Amino acid sequence: MRKLTDVHVHLAALPTPQNGCRVSRRLLGGPVGRLVSRDMGLPLDQPEQASLLYLERLRAELLGSARVGRAVLLGMDGAYDESGRLDEEHTDFLIGNDYVLECSARAPALFLAGVSVNPQRRDALDELERCAARGAALVKVLANSQRFDPALPRYRPFYKVMARLKLPLLAHVGFEFSLIGHDQSVGDLGRLVPALEEGVTVIAAHGCSTGLFFAEKHWALMGELVRRFPRFYADVSALTLFNRVGQLLRIARHPELFGRLLFGTDYPLPVYSYPCLLAGAGGAWAASRAAANRFDRQVLVLEALGVELRADFADLAGGR
Ligand SMILES: [Zn+2]
Repeated sequence: MRKLTDVHVHLAALPTPQNGCRVSRRLLGGPVGRLVSRDMGLPLDQPEQASLLYLERLRAELLGSARVGRAVLLGMDGAYDESGRLDEEHTDFLIGNDYVLECSARAPALFLAGVSVNPQRRDALDELERCAARGAALVKVLANSQRFDPALPRYRPFYKVMARLKLPLLAHVGFEFSLIGHDQSVGDLGRLVPALEEGVTVIAAHGCSTGLFFAEKHWALMGELVRRFPRFYADVSALTLFNRVGQLLRIARHPELFGRLLFGTDYPLPVYSYPCLLAGAGGAWAASRAAANRFDRQVLVLEALGVELRADFADLAGGR
């Protein structure tokens, strides 16, 4: 059986003079900081060591997976002001593209580079070209914290370049809790239509869920985009979280969507087994809980719910 590609794995690093990453004190003092320091036991006072450890643990967990063979490592661009300069005050977390490209190049059989380019940055088009030339597999954006509206007409040239370079766009959808959200409406699914119109392969994160428990306002539009755009996909990352599980249960009842679902976890966020119980699959629940890594756990949950992943990133990424 072919192993799956996880399209949604976050790369995390603490700033060092070499890696070009940034993390604000505000963020380190919040839930993300706690996740990294307490749950993952990373030494916040030793940035180089912590960054290496993060990558090493991820590598070990992925190598331990029976079902998932590769992961797209995601970078995180910052916020930019009207003139396209980095807005340091509003950038809480930045994982630079060079760091993403270097980490994935160190283990190319395991990792693909999911660079992040905010279309608002003044060198956005050059950065797309540069990253594509270095083998980037996709571009990730999180408009809520990167403070831009993906639907603005002025970003159409950006999408045209992405389409020409065959770089898929992985876009966060819904509210953003982990980082610090600003204008949450820029996470609306409908804002991705201009990118689709320009011919970009768009992967909407988290199964298009809003992250607001069972109020799934994007549901009808998700179905419409699947029908209208053959290049529209959704990843299933983070869907075992309580605030998104409603969407997972709904997706499971709609096999017509299965051809457009891509595997994802949202690593390092946890993957839970309890959705198996909601589907009455006690045996699968036990098997999923017993899984040694969260990649296999997520696969087992999806199978218990009858969600078939009929597409894989390997098929749509232009042979990457
Ligand atoms: Zn994510």
